[in-house]
Amino acid sequence: MLPRKLRIATTSLSGCFGCHMSFLDIDERLIELAGLVEFDRSPITDIKHCSQRCDVALIEGGVCNAENVHVLRELRANAKTLVALGACAVNGGLPAQRNHLDVGRCLSQVYRTPDGTAAAIPNDPELPLLLDKVYPINEIVRVDYFLPGCPPSGDTIWKFLTDLLTGRTPRIEHPLLKFD
Ligand code: SF4
Repeated sequence: MLPRKLRIATTSLSGCFGCHMSFLDIDERLIELAGLVEFDRSPITDIKHCSQRCDVALIEGGVCNAENVHVLRELRANAKTLVALGACAVNGGLPAQRNHLDVGRCLSQVYRTPDGTAAAIPNDPELPLLLDKVYPINEIVRVDYFLPGCPPSGDTIWKFLTDLLTGRTPRIEHPLLKFD
């Protein structure tokens, strides 16, 4: 009997999708990967919520709004191993530069009436409220692995995944380990 395929979920919270693009940079190895894993909830599938327990959840982006918190908690509850993928998930990344600013003032400066004379901050209840700061994901849930880089390279992601898939403890060393 063939071994069970590992089940992977991915998401982008307060990310730029660059880490997902880097994931796709494993290029033709995606075909090999497709033989080893199945994707659950992910921007690259049409699955909106985890359909079953997953082996691995790859989390791109920090946590900047209420919806990010819900998504992250769903993935943590459904994943055996949860990975902070990229600088934003690891430490908030560039979006966390807003942390020394007042979020209310930021919004009122960005959203203006058409003539630009007054603040017109969107207040539809459908919209998730921003948090006071951008948080790394480990301040919301437990994280099993941190994979730094903005983004981590395709080769780094491949080394990490193949370590996991073959039952080794993932080990990333220079020159695959970087922080920019
Ligand atoms: S770590 Fe870099 S590439 Fe990844 S989501 Fe953040 S800004 Fe984008």
